Amino acid sequence: MKSAMAAKNERDASAVPSRMQRFASLVLTDDRDQRRAITMVLTTTALYSVCLALLAFGVLYGVFPIERIGVLALLLALAGPVFYAIIRSGLNLRFSEPKLAFPQALVAQSMIALAYTVCGPVHSATIIFMAVVTVYGMFDMSMRRVRLVLLYTLAVMALVMAWKVHTDPQVYQGPLEIMYFAMMATSLTAISLLSMLVSKMRKRLRSQKDELAQALARIQIAATHDELTGLANRRHMIALLGEHITRRSRGGPGFAVALADIDHFKNVNDTHGHRVGDEALMTFAHLARVQLRSADLVARWGGEEFLILLPETNPPGEPNRAVERLRAALAMASASDHVPDLRIAFSTGLTRYIDGEPIDDMIERADRALYAAKDAGRNRTVTV
Ligand code: GH3
Ligand code: MG
Ligand code: MG
Repeated sequence: MKSAMAAKNERDASAVPSRMQRFASLVLTDDRDQRRAITMVLTTTALYSVCLALLAFGVLYGVFPIERIGVLALLLALAGPVFYAIIRSGLNLRFSEPKLAFPQALVAQSMIALAYTVCGPVHSATIIFMAVVTVYGMFDMSMRRVRLVLLYTLAVMALVMAWKVHTDPQVYQGPLEIMYFAMMATSLTAISLLSMLVSKMRKRLRSQKDELAQALARIQIAATHDELTGLANRRHMIALLGEHITRRSRGGPGFAVALADIDHFKNVNDTHGHRVGDEALMTFAHLARVQLRSADLVARWGGEEFLILLPETNPPGEPNRAVERLRAALAMASASDHVPDLRIAFSTGLTRYIDGEPIDDMIERADRALYAAKDAGRNRTVTV
């Protein structure tokens, strides 16, 4: 069996980042969103590198002369590192869309338009890359931006084609260019429409996720709290007691519990009605929250019974004082807005947790003390 020490060493070792993790932190940062943005830039940089290799291939085999592709090659080599530097330095966080998908798409489409003008006989093939850019934008751009990129691309390409047909009619023949434009416009529009659909779905998913998170938070509160008083419910208090017992078993502080039951509560209901009874319960809950110490926790244990968890603090005897403070406050307060002179009192069974005992034993002891308090005339605390 593994010793506790060996297990601890293993934990410590896993806490130290590996060389690979440190390298990833350095290149990609530790921020999740920034990492996604940088990963996208690195992916496009890889694509630009492939394009550079294709240009080199074209030059090598005399498809186009080297002097014609100089500017394009420079832009392809710079685009990736420039966007990387902007994002890695955190400059992108100043913009409304920090992933910079929109400017990156515009830059990419512009470079492809430039490639169209310099790639001579293979110019029509460059259009394929425009489709790639449009697909990439699908996951990161709003519908409006997808539309803007499409309009920008079509406008730039219409101008580029018209210009090339005019200045280089040998290679850029009018009827062919019209066909290329029609094919490009059709495919890019189709992809953009799909892109907008994805964008809409993403938006809907995001709002559904938010709604689910809110619903989950509401359910968590409903599952752990009492509806009428807003106090922790019995189930939640049992879990909290379990946590305190575990902490105690590991050398944490001890604690006491006080089981409080409102005296003659049935009379309140019988005399003033259930609604006033409910108000009295809310008054008790409110004063308990105000009067007890911030570390103390109150739960509605049952109908008009409350369990107060009182973590041990110095000096000893403080738990009892906290309960007596609540008793004094209740004696002064009106229990209901509808019956201003209504006062409520309660009896309490107070006991300390004995190390190692099950929760039920402690509760049973508090319950017995509570009955002793009732027997002794109510409106008092019996400590066992
Ligand atoms: P004792 O001093 O011995 O505790 O007497 P009691 O009248 O307080 O005790 P009993 O157990 O006879 O009555 C408790 C009453 O609490 C009965 C029940 O109708 C009432 N009660 C329990 N839950 C609620 C509630 O949510 N709202 C209201 N208004 N009354 C409640
Ligand atoms: Mg009662
Ligand atoms: Mg009771």
